Amino acid sequence: MTAASTGGPEHRTPQNGGLRLMAVHAHPDDESSKGAATTARYAAEGHDVLVVTLTGGERGDILNPAMDRPGVKERMTEIRKEEMAKAAAALGVRQTWLGFVDSGLPEGDPLPPLPEGSFATIPLEVATEALVKVVREFRPHVIITYDEHGGYPHPDHIRCHEVSVAAYEQSGDPEAFPDAGEPWTVSKLYYTHGFIRDRMVLFSDEFEKNGQESPFTEWLSKWDPSRGDLMGRVTTQVECAKYFTQRDDALRAHATQIDPNGVFFAVPLEWQQRLWPTEEYELARTRVTTSIPETDLFAGIEES
Ligand SMILES: [Zn+2]
Repeated sequence: MTAASTGGPEHRTPQNGGLRLMAVHAHPDDESSKGAATTARYAAEGHDVLVVTLTGGERGDILNPAMDRPGVKERMTEIRKEEMAKAAAALGVRQTWLGFVDSGLPEGDPLPPLPEGSFATIPLEVATEALVKVVREFRPHVIITYDEHGGYPHPDHIRCHEVSVAAYEQSGDPEAFPDAGEPWTVSKLYYTHGFIRDRMVLFSDEFEKNGQESPFTEWLSKWDPSRGDLMGRVTTQVECAKYFTQRDDALRAHATQIDPNGVFFAVPLEWQQRLWPTEEYELARTRVTTSIPETDLFAGIEES
């Protein structure tokens, strides 16, 4: 379970008789910053885990100062492919590309239009059909994606949500996309939730206890209490502390995108494992019976 692949007929064979989990992400690196330890855990436990990356991340900036050097920006597409392969290997999951083009994060006032042909401008049915095809090949029991806000307001993230929900709804329908393979009904759909306020507060307090400045002070001071905490939407907490090191290795594999001195690595691993050993999910749709709260994304799905 350590090889990354780019898709193909091997998707049809569940490994070690386990179940199948599909994580749908907008860009290479999102799989390493959102629910990564969960995917590493399920893969390590003998389930078949496939990350589907919708775009190539072509419009990502270089976010690690050490990688901001001549020749990198020019080779961004290629470099991000190499980084993704390393990250998938670190997590022990397989990965495939859907081949759409990164829309970029529009900036300015007014916001400029999205680049022509980019993922967020492609008709929803076109992108849905492409994802339905992969769903019908891989036949996941569970799909993970983002909530309706995309986790953060990048147009590709919002689109990732829309396409994933549409694929969950339609992949089992024989009338929908008849050229995209044999219908397959997915049992559960989850949203991944990373920015949990309670978690930030715990870590912040721990920094203070240790006489250190918290890297989250600014983030917490800007918190708008009227938004409510995402924790209120969480239905499922997956224990995965043992896999945080694999998550960190996967993050570091995305060398152009992740600053090893940045906030992702600010909290000592031991604190994370002791204070908050889980990753958080919201059961958005289900076709099986389960009881909330859950500790397992496959709860209610019988091994077959
Ligand atoms: Zn992204």
